[in-house]
Amino acid sequence: MSYLLKNATLPNGSKADLAIHDGRFVAASSLPKDHQVIDLAGKQVLPGLVDLHTHLREPGFEESETVATGSLSAVRGGFTAISAMANTSPVADTAGVVEQVYRLGQAAGLCDVFPIGAVTQGLNGQTLSEIGAMADSGARVRVFSDDGKCVFDPLIMRRALEYVKKFDGVIAQHAQEPTLTQDAQMNEGEMSAQLGLKGWPAVAEEAIIARDVLLAEHTKSRLHICHLTTAGGVEIIRWAKARGIQVTAEVTPHHLLLTDEYAKNYDPIFKVNPPLRLESDVLALRAGLADGTIDIVATDHAPHSSESKDCEWSVASFGMVGLETALSIVIKTMVETGAMNYADVADRLSVAPARIARYENHGQPLEVGHVANLTVVDTAAKWIVDRDLMSTRSKNTPFHGFELPGVVTHTFFNGKLVFGE
Ligand SMILES: [Zn+2]
Repeated sequence: MSYLLKNATLPNGSKADLAIHDGRFVAASSLPKDHQVIDLAGKQVLPGLVDLHTHLREPGFEESETVATGSLSAVRGGFTAISAMANTSPVADTAGVVEQVYRLGQAAGLCDVFPIGAVTQGLNGQTLSEIGAMADSGARVRVFSDDGKCVFDPLIMRRALEYVKKFDGVIAQHAQEPTLTQDAQMNEGEMSAQLGLKGWPAVAEEAIIARDVLLAEHTKSRLHICHLTTAGGVEIIRWAKARGIQVTAEVTPHHLLLTDEYAKNYDPIFKVNPPLRLESDVLALRAGLADGTIDIVATDHAPHSSESKDCEWSVASFGMVGLETALSIVIKTMVETGAMNYADVADRLSVAPARIARYENHGQPLEVGHVANLTVVDTAAKWIVDRDLMSTRSKNTPFHGFELPGVVTHTFFNGKLVFGE
């Protein structure tokens, strides 16, 4: 199918018609006669969004999400590439498992699903996994992470950083000092004291970030910090970048909006790892994202069955789904506040994540010759989040009932219309 998208507003604010044929942007004059015309007057286009942090639960936990349902959730949220975290069962720590996940993504055919490889075997934190074999596999893995767990042993972290340099890979760290966070349930502070829940101090995150930027400097390798949540963490990343250390960082949409005040009714929908922090942290994260200290927004989409969320706070699972609300939360917290424009949104949600993970054909300019990965959003429209209308297999959104700005109307993947009409 070929398309002529008329009157689109580009990320830089200018207006243009975009022609798509055979998977790529082409000159309008070279479109075949039978192309479909879609009028995008008043709508914003962005390069297809790229998520570096997605939990798809397959293999092993298909009752919560599969590669196919996660892909559908992704394109409804405007994503054309997502990155499947390794904490599946079996763990994605071999060429066989990452190739399986990659093939499932291809079979679903809605967006690219790029597997992330585990740093250590079975996420045990002690023995490096088959990093080289995963990099050489059909899935060409470039991002490695034990996410869900911290790579705590500094020697293992050093070896992993050294290893991925061979093929320009990156280690994505879930920064959580385990001894300081044993049995921790939420941010450590006034609210945790009031609620009588065991706290999770900011220093538990910051201590690992500080250690690892120094290891990245020592090894001259690439480090990515997952889901930054504290003002102190932003300061450390800012310092490291000023020093020339190759570190990048992500923030989740929920940490840009929610604070630990939401825990006050013990509703485990707000239980997440790392935890919701303070208003001062939220403001520091927004400022860091706006000035580029934080490179990207990543969803940490973490589907959980209702049995594991509809229970007492202390036994509920950590995590929230996020693919279908991410762009709207960024518009609400960053664009509507005047902190960012749509060129910045394109950078933080597409260009920069594609660059960090070395995903070809994503995060590219919307220009003739490039693969047509494209998201269309009606930025003036508002919607009420309804968990029962979402495509993800799980219902654990903290935003149910929220009115949010920005409705994704179309998603094109490799020139195919995979969402919208
Ligand atoms: Zn994590």
